[in-house]
Amino acid sequence: MSTNRYDQVKKRVLAGSDMDYFGICPSSVLEGEPAGHRPSDLLPNAKSIIVYGRKLIDGTIQAKFRAIEDGRSNTAGSYNAHSFVLSLNHLCMKQTYEIAQYLEKTFGCYAMPLTNNVIQAVEPEGLPAPFFADPYRAGLPIDIYKAAAAAGIGELGWNHRVITPDNGPRVYMCAIVTSLKFSKYDSPYSGKKLCDPEKCHVCSTKCPVHALDAEKYTEVEVAGKTYKLGKLDVNGCGVACFGFRKSLNPRTKVEVAEDHPSDEALAKAIDFNYKHPAGQTLDHLSMSNCDWCLLYCPVGNWEKTFKDRGLTKG
Ligand code: SF4
Ligand code: SF4
Repeated sequence: MSTNRYDQVKKRVLAGSDMDYFGICPSSVLEGEPAGHRPSDLLPNAKSIIVYGRKLIDGTIQAKFRAIEDGRSNTAGSYNAHSFVLSLNHLCMKQTYEIAQYLEKTFGCYAMPLTNNVIQAVEPEGLPAPFFADPYRAGLPIDIYKAAAAAGIGELGWNHRVITPDNGPRVYMCAIVTSLKFSKYDSPYSGKKLCDPEKCHVCSTKCPVHALDAEKYTEVEVAGKTYKLGKLDVNGCGVACFGFRKSLNPRTKVEVAEDHPSDEALAKAIDFNYKHPAGQTLDHLSMSNCDWCLLYCPVGNWEKTFKDRGLTKG
């Protein structure tokens, strides 16, 4: 019966909501997270985390290549609106609501929908950060990428993102913490190694502010599997993602010249941006001005999809 429950939920999420990715892990796998970010902190009788998501649209990825490589800044909005914030965020919020309501109505459980891949309506803890660079400082209730890794959707990569076999890190993840128990759970991805930093390092080499070290790393263990994540300067990454550099965001009203700014310097830039009319966005802080470590990661048919078709110089 419980296996049927798994299949039933999977079908509802994949077919009913047009999702491309799906997995379920026991919520206990994230009970070692810092206080306030454990599933049981969010839902006292939590049993499972249902993770699902969508592939980003190839056309928006190539639109960002046009902006980066051809200087066509008017194409960046295609990625920003449709693969980062607006459409995808709103679409997945709606679908997450529907899935959570389906779970509660069908199984009589509690289903707590989480904020998606990108933050919305959450309060950053202290200084804001790009969500993948420091999920909890960014205000995410749980680390969705860790949940995705535990649920077998992909590996955690050197670039701190979840890397899928078919689309690399070019995916968007959502999750629901639920009191619903399953007798069948997904295991971490165990296929061919996807991120091999000893041979690759594209993300570190491409990083425009040298925020992602090519040699130093931290090891992260999720559901019994250990991943190497490159040492990341979160504030440096913030400069690029928040677009505090004219070379990455021609419209910026604030310029941070240092690649590794102090908390104070970054906080000053963020404060200025919040107060400037040009800095007002639907998100708390626009964070789509970089993502080069996602765009150029070669995992997931990248060469065939983009390079071989002349859509990027690589
Ligand atoms: S998002 Fe940009 S700044 Fe941050 S690690 Fe990736 S490439 Fe570097
Ligand atoms: S670019 Fe290379 S090293 Fe970086 S995450 Fe992708 S596969 Fe790993």
